[in-house]
Amino acid sequence: MRYPKKLTVLQMSFLALAAVLNIAGANLALLIRIPLYLDTLGTFLAAILFGPFYGMVPGFLSGILTGMTTDIYSLFYLPVQLLTGLTAGLFFYEKSFRNGKYRIPLYAFVVTLPGTIVSSCITAFLFGGITSSGSTVMVQLFHHLGLNLTVSVFCVQLVTDFIDRTVMLALSLTVLHVLPVSVLTVLKKETVLMDRYSKITNKNKREIVLLKALPCAWGKCRFCDYIEDNSRDRESMITLNRDVLSHVTGEFGVLEVINSGSCFELPKETLTDIRTVVREKHIQKLFFEAHWIYRSRLDEMREFFGIPIVYKTGAETFDYHFREHYLNKHADFRDAEELSRYFDSPCLMVGIQGQTKEMIQNDIRLLKQFFKLGTINVFTNNSTDVKRDEELVKWFLEEYRELEHDPSIEVLYENTDFGVGD
Ligand code: SF4
Repeated sequence: MRYPKKLTVLQMSFLALAAVLNIAGANLALLIRIPLYLDTLGTFLAAILFGPFYGMVPGFLSGILTGMTTDIYSLFYLPVQLLTGLTAGLFFYEKSFRNGKYRIPLYAFVVTLPGTIVSSCITAFLFGGITSSGSTVMVQLFHHLGLNLTVSVFCVQLVTDFIDRTVMLALSLTVLHVLPVSVLTVLKKETVLMDRYSKITNKNKREIVLLKALPCAWGKCRFCDYIEDNSRDRESMITLNRDVLSHVTGEFGVLEVINSGSCFELPKETLTDIRTVVREKHIQKLFFEAHWIYRSRLDEMREFFGIPIVYKTGAETFDYHFREHYLNKHADFRDAEELSRYFDSPCLMVGIQGQTKEMIQNDIRLLKQFFKLGTINVFTNNSTDVKRDEELVKWFLEEYRELEHDPSIEVLYENTDFGVGD
C-alpha cells in the first residue's frame, strides 16, 4: 500500500476542514454533556481518504486548538487523537466498506482499543479519574461503588470510546457515501496519479494504465490477492478510470491497459472511453490482458478498437500439473503451442515454492520458442499461502541475468515495476 507523499491544495484544505469537524464535535459534546467525545469525525475521514500519516493531522490540529480555547484537557489527550488517526489509517485507508457495513462495530473496536488504553492511563494517573468529559460522572459512580479507580476508568473509557468511535466511523462512512464520486476522485487525485498511470521507457516503450474493473470471472487462482482491486460500484469505477485515462498523452502511440482480471471485465463505458483516447491520442497499438477462458472472444476487442491488440495472458507456467493443480489457474491449455494460437504474450511466474529449476528452464525455453513477447514475474509474497522460494529466485536472477537486455522479455522483480499498482 502506498500513501500520498505530497498533498494538493484541495487535500490540505480538506484536512483543515476535518480539524474543524473535530472541534465542532468536541464542543457539541461538551455543551450537551453527553458521555461521548464526538471529536474524531474529521480524523476518520482523513484516515480513510489519505492514510495513517495524514489521518493524524486533523486530531493534532483540533487537539491543540480546542486545548487553547475551550477545553484544556484536549492538550493532554493529544496522543489519543494521534493514535486514533494512525490506527484508522492503517486499517481503513482505501478500504471499501460497501459490503461490510455490518462490521462497523468490529472495525470501531479495533481502532478503539489502543486509544482506550492510552486515554485510561492519562485519565487515571494524570487526573485521578476527573476530566471535563461527561463520562467522569460514571467513573466516580463506579469508584464509589467500590471498584478500583484505574479499573473504573478503563471500563467506562472502553464502553464510551467504543460507542463514540462506532458512531463516528458510521457517520464518516455515510459522509463518504453521499459525497459525489467526482469530489472523491478529485480529493484522491494524487493517489490516482501515483498508482494508476505510468510510462514504460526501457523496453517496448508505452504508456500503461491500471484501471478498475468488475470482479474477475474466474477469481480463484491460489496465488492471487489483487482481485481486491475489483469493484461492483460501476459509477465510481467509470469516473476513476476516466480520470486515469485523461493522463494518457499518446507520446509512444502504444497504450497498455491492465486491470485485476481480464479486459472483458472492464465496464462498457470504460471501453468506450479507451476507444475515445485511442482515437484522440492517435494510439496505434493496445496491450490488453485476458484469461484463457476468453480465448474465443479476443477478436471482439480487435473489432471494437479497430487497431492491433497484443494480448497478454497469465499462463504462469507451461507445467500443466503445477498450473492447474497447485496454482488453480483454470487455464487448461496442454502446451505452449496451443496457447500461442490465441495469445501473443504470456506472463510467467518464477520463484514459487514447489517450482523447480527444470520447470523454469523449460518455461523460458518455450516462451522464446513460441512467442515474440513475454513477461516474467518474480514472485513476491502476498496474503495468500503461496510462498516465494528465495533460493530459486537467487538462482534465477543469476542464471538469467541476460534477460535484462532481451528486448522480447520483460522481467518484473516487483509487482510495481511497471510503475502502477501497489
Ligand atoms: S485470473 Fe487473474 S485476477 Fe483472476 S484470480 Fe487469477 S490471477 Fe487473479
